[in-house]
Amino acid sequence: MAPRRDRDLTFDPTGDVLLILTENKSNRPNQQLEAKVSSRHLALASEVFRVMFDGGFKERIGPGQPIRRVPLPDDDAKAMMILLGILHGLSGRVPKTIRLRTFVKIGILVDKYQLQEAVEVYVDRWFQPLWDAAEYETCAGLAKWIFLTSAFNLDSEFKMMTWYAIYRGDQSIYDHGLPLPAAICTEIDRQRTTALEGLLDYLRDLIKRYTARGRPQCSELCDALVLGDLIKKLTRVGLYPVPEVIDASWTLETLFWKVKHLKFLSLCQSAAALPDQDPSGSELEWVPEARDCNLTCAIRAKVNELTAETHGLELPFETTRRRRSDR
Ligand SMILES: [Zn+2]
Repeated sequence: MAPRRDRDLTFDPTGDVLLILTENKSNRPNQQLEAKVSSRHLALASEVFRVMFDGGFKERIGPGQPIRRVPLPDDDAKAMMILLGILHGLSGRVPKTIRLRTFVKIGILVDKYQLQEAVEVYVDRWFQPLWDAAEYETCAGLAKWIFLTSAFNLDSEFKMMTWYAIYRGDQSIYDHGLPLPAAICTEIDRQRTTALEGLLDYLRDLIKRYTARGRPQCSELCDALVLGDLIKKLTRVGLYPVPEVIDASWTLETLFWKVKHLKFLSLCQSAAALPDQDPSGSELEWVPEARDCNLTCAIRAKVNELTAETHGLELPFETTRRRRSDR
């Protein structure tokens, strides 16, 4: 099939580069497109294009007219045409709204050619309706939005999405076929595992303290009650014996919630007849008056501390930057 070379594909009539794109349509054979573009516009917007045009690719296609043919077989044609419209200042060719699928394809090219700055204004316009309808309850949805917010340099949304993956993710996140840097997935997993292990270590340590020989934590009798109650309540939520290995399906959110809602007993508390009901009715925020031998307060404080230590990732993500300059 002859390549298409029409007005819609002319981004600059005096352009010096023909980008050879391949249009994949499910119901038709692949069609080659020749987009006439200005290398100057592309090189100004993208360091990757600048390096590319400094290289070879030169081929004469008309009398006295040096034109470079640059095949880009891996790039999505539709997304590239939208980007070419933006880079040549042809706003009439840029859609006002786009579908998520196209947004992802544009994101892949923006990431590849480092076009974040050039597309910023359009991304602001496209982003909000897609973000409002964003679906990130599944691992694939979450990976997609972590990739998009990182590709388009949307720092607060990136932080929010990565935090979501750390706190609510129930499995190790992976790229789902997107160019999502492995280092981002690794860091998400690291923060999630560190917090989970932090809680298990703390519980293990607590039990060790109460079973150790030597000076009791409070009195022998109070210690016995505290330990017995601790074991009973942890057993109830599946945490006794404290697991050696993290269950792959745990989320920080559910595990922390379970532990934070346990109310523990101690002899001193019972003897002082401290109320075991929150007078204000707010169950979670209330803790019995601080008594060292009642564990409710200490365990909730530990969970709060671990929660505060899990925060989303920041852009630019170190390894992402390194990966980009490696190219
Ligand atoms: Zn006590």
